[in-house]
Amino acid sequence: MKRASPQFVVQVAVPSPLRGTFDYLPSPEHALPKPGCRVKVSFGRQQLTGLVTGLAAESEVPAEKLRPVLAILDDEPLLDEHLLTLYRWASNYYLFPLGMALQTSLPKQLREGKACTLATPMVWQLAKPADPESQPKIRSKHHRQILDLLGSYQTLTGKELSALLNKPARATLLSLQEKGLVEQVPMAAAAATAAQVAEQPLIPDAEQASALATLRAAKPGFHCFLLEGITGSGKTEVYLQLIQDVLAKGRQVLVLVPEINLTPQTIERFSRRFRARIVAFHSGLTEKQRLQGWLEARDGSAHIIIGTRSAVFTPLANPGLIVIDEEHDDSYKQQDGFRYSARDVAIYRASLLKIPVLLGSATPSLESLHNALSGRFQLLSLTKRAGNANLPTIRMLDLKLQKTQAGISELLLAEIAATLSANQQVLVFLNRRGFAPVLLCRDCGWIAHCDRCERSFTLHQHPKVLRCHHCDAQRPVPRHCPACNGTSLEAIGLGTERSSSYLAEQFPDFPVLRIDRDSTRIAGKLDALMATIHSGIPCILVGTQMLAKGHHFPRVSLVAVLDADSGLFSADFRAQENLGQLLTQVAGRAGRSDTPGHVLVQTYHPNHPALQQLSAHGYGSFARQLLQERMQGRLPPFVHFMLVRAEANKPQLPLDFLRELAEQLQKEAPRELRWFGPMPSPFLKKAGVFRAQLVLQAPKRSILQKLGPALLKLLETNSMARKVRALVDVDPIDFS
Ligand code: ADP
Ligand code: ZN
Ligand code: ZN
Repeated sequence: MKRASPQFVVQVAVPSPLRGTFDYLPSPEHALPKPGCRVKVSFGRQQLTGLVTGLAAESEVPAEKLRPVLAILDDEPLLDEHLLTLYRWASNYYLFPLGMALQTSLPKQLREGKACTLATPMVWQLAKPADPESQPKIRSKHHRQILDLLGSYQTLTGKELSALLNKPARATLLSLQEKGLVEQVPMAAAAATAAQVAEQPLIPDAEQASALATLRAAKPGFHCFLLEGITGSGKTEVYLQLIQDVLAKGRQVLVLVPEINLTPQTIERFSRRFRARIVAFHSGLTEKQRLQGWLEARDGSAHIIIGTRSAVFTPLANPGLIVIDEEHDDSYKQQDGFRYSARDVAIYRASLLKIPVLLGSATPSLESLHNALSGRFQLLSLTKRAGNANLPTIRMLDLKLQKTQAGISELLLAEIAATLSANQQVLVFLNRRGFAPVLLCRDCGWIAHCDRCERSFTLHQHPKVLRCHHCDAQRPVPRHCPACNGTSLEAIGLGTERSSSYLAEQFPDFPVLRIDRDSTRIAGKLDALMATIHSGIPCILVGTQMLAKGHHFPRVSLVAVLDADSGLFSADFRAQENLGQLLTQVAGRAGRSDTPGHVLVQTYHPNHPALQQLSAHGYGSFARQLLQERMQGRLPPFVHFMLVRAEANKPQLPLDFLRELAEQLQKEAPRELRWFGPMPSPFLKKAGVFRAQLVLQAPKRSILQKLGPALLKLLETNSMARKVRALVDVDPIDFS
């Protein structure tokens, strides 16, 4: 007997490296699941939680081979049609399986198929007096404080109140409740109240006013703005005032930041300005809190959502604006697995939603600058520092003419002493953590190195250990040379530990604070360091690029860059752009209040054109010059790249794999395509794996995109596919 073909097929994305979605039959007992709902399905021998991406009339798979959906986990879609479209686009564009892409921002409980219910925490508010005439007298200061806070914030959780008061509030709240002065209500009821302004906005200066006027004059719909404003020019103030308009219309704002844990100040500034529900996604959240924030964003009770890269996929009930702060930051590009750029996904999302997106940076990426200069984005500029602050002066310090110790020249040492005795703070920038990058035997030339990466180990002193900065392998520090048994082992080169311990010896009366990934690994450590800095006492900060990101240090008046040269002669075509961004951002930490700041850059090449142009004309003109060079050199953003990397445990395998791939792909490839490789990767061996790569270049993104499906197919059918791990990186920023 012939079975009737099913009315509908359920298409499900499952977390599997296999591409595409998989077809299932609706289960006979249940209604059809809606797209965006989670379902339980059997997949091979496993049971997986998948997401319904669509329904179809028929399947390419014969009906008798289709298995039924085992369970439907949600009545209502978890993700709306818009967000599904966004994920689908990103999965296609970055050539990454949809089911795996969907995992990137779903809270853990939802990925695991757990129930999806929004907890409604209780909040406190002032009670409506039954009889306004007979209000009891409030004598206790503590009682008064709580009533005042609730008066201005309207609703607060007990925790928030305790935090604001800096002491437990619970007992007082209960006694106020007894008096009938305050009451507890579920947050959902309170959230229906619109966001409000808590603190008066600053009066915009002429440039801020003109930027805001342009932003406000835009017709409803998708617009992309680039706010190019020097460090301290008041970009954040522009975001805040624009956000205020959007909140007033009852819509939500998504704010992307590069590293949220480093910028608690940003969140503080937002919560001081708005009486609004702000959800911040940071690594300190428990899974429960993350889920709660995600659900509040989805049901619209959160007004402002602030987060790093993956927050770009947060569901939003009623979005009105996306802001991308420090849009040039490399952390927006994911470097493993789903290699998406949150900036580019955000722009696409805004276009789908037909809402504006505002990118801001003191040092815009060349991609965004090019888009702005060619008219695709609208360019807004802030060229002066806000308030009384001035941009610091930058001086080059020729290391050829100076003696140094621990990387610090005598002249710099004198400048540090002068700054400290003027009661100011000093920031010393060195982009390498650890004590020294090399441990060398003076007798035989042996160098401590990681076998898995064939790179030198970095010597660390706190704790004392050799560590590979590429694969994290660790070794004890040998007392004797393992090659010749000699004892002349010497630490060569500079790291933050070395420079900071030297400075601590030189300035025993002042705190020396080291700020890098090692010194801040323990929770709360960074906060403690920041508290010392913000107390304003004269001190020296020594740190890596962690210090360059968005901090506002009003007491820092001297910034020293110990080594500017590593970015000057790199083979990477992005090195100069990155150097310019890093130097400008670090320099921008100086003189952010009334005291003028200055910057000293130590270099062996003070006349290098890049350094000259940066110090004389600033990043803006430097970047425009670089753009010219990129155009002449046919480099991004004027062309587009796609990188295919292959990795295996034998050196020859990845190369052979890519040669076979290239040969077959060439048959399908259009003429405009340029090929680089297959060749061994510059970073040949990493964590024990040999690497090779093939880079494809095209004048248009669409050309590369058209090649995508064929490329994926060839990766799967390659005769070496079982022995080689291959990945595709679209718009790569790392070519190493
Ligand atoms: P950016 O985001 O460009 O680094 P911020 O918005 O953080 O700059 O502003 C830098 C400093 O200037 C902050 O302390 C801010 O309060 C202050 N500021 C910004 N705009 C104004 C203004 N219009 N008037 C006075 N001070 C301002
Ligand atoms: Zn030796
Ligand atoms: Zn290693």
